[in-house]
Amino acid sequence: MFDVHGKSVIVTGGASGIGRAYAEVMAEHGARVCILDLDAQNLDKVVAEMAADGADVWGQAIDVSDRPKMAEAFDKVAERHGRIDVVFANAGIDAGPGFLSTEGERIADGAIDVLDDHHWDRVIEVNLSSVYTTVKHAARHMKRSGGGRIIVTSSIAAQINEAIVGTPYMPAKAGVDHFVRQMAMELGAFGILVNCISPGPFMTNIAGGRLKIPADRRAFEAQSLIGRIGDTEDIKGLALYLASPCSSYVTGSQIVIDGGSMHR
Ligand code: NAD
Repeated sequence: MFDVHGKSVIVTGGASGIGRAYAEVMAEHGARVCILDLDAQNLDKVVAEMAADGADVWGQAIDVSDRPKMAEAFDKVAERHGRIDVVFANAGIDAGPGFLSTEGERIADGAIDVLDDHHWDRVIEVNLSSVYTTVKHAARHMKRSGGGRIIVTSSIAAQINEAIVGTPYMPAKAGVDHFVRQMAMELGAFGILVNCISPGPFMTNIAGGRLKIPADRRAFEAQSLIGRIGDTEDIKGLALYLASPCSSYVTGSQIVIDGGSMHR
């Protein structure tokens, strides 16, 4: 039931954190994985490390907000793997709490009057508009091959205010949640299931690696009902579930994985 053996998988933002965990769990279960990531250096390193562990993995260095290049990247995967079965739309950014000012300085929440417009635009572009681009090309290929799975990394910040993230991040993720429901409705008839994984705090490089700072980490650990923040290993089971036949009746869902933090 958890079989993804031989599946053709794309993971955006797979050279770090949560995306790397998705890429690893798919490869560990015999899938063929292509990672798309902006950070070419880290991408090469991660692909080499995974390949050394026996993974069938390769990468393409790309900015997910580059629409023509995204179309080409998906076509290259379909050419090499013969089809595209599972796509994780995962790449995301956040500058951390507060805003970046027009001078590029970190400023406190509540200062929307001096928010740098470029900061707003870039977070919306990467975290929301690029999910549209990713889903578009996934659907283009999956319609041809008769179905597939699209799994988008949202956040509990789509549903509640989260102290760790900057202002554009929350509306971007809320947009992602609704877009996923809309796409589930549109693509269900083509055998394409579309769902969100909505993490709480996980130990990754996002938000300037803020969760790795002991004082900040302790605050988020205290918020969790099980006394710790997420390790990227924690997300692998849910990723495998949503990519596999186990979840064949699940679509349009936002599945929260946050150690119960939302209920505190
Ligand atoms: P991370 O910074 O460790 O990894 C993000 C990866 O995305 C990096 O490899 C980065 O190079 C890549 N990336 C960024 N911008 C890109 C672009 N324009 N094009 C291509 N690749 C790009 O962060 P993470 O925590 O693993 O984040 C993954 C996803 O999880 C994001 O969508 C994030 O919003 C979401 N998320 C994270 C947390 C958390 O606490 N870590 C919580 C909720 C949601």
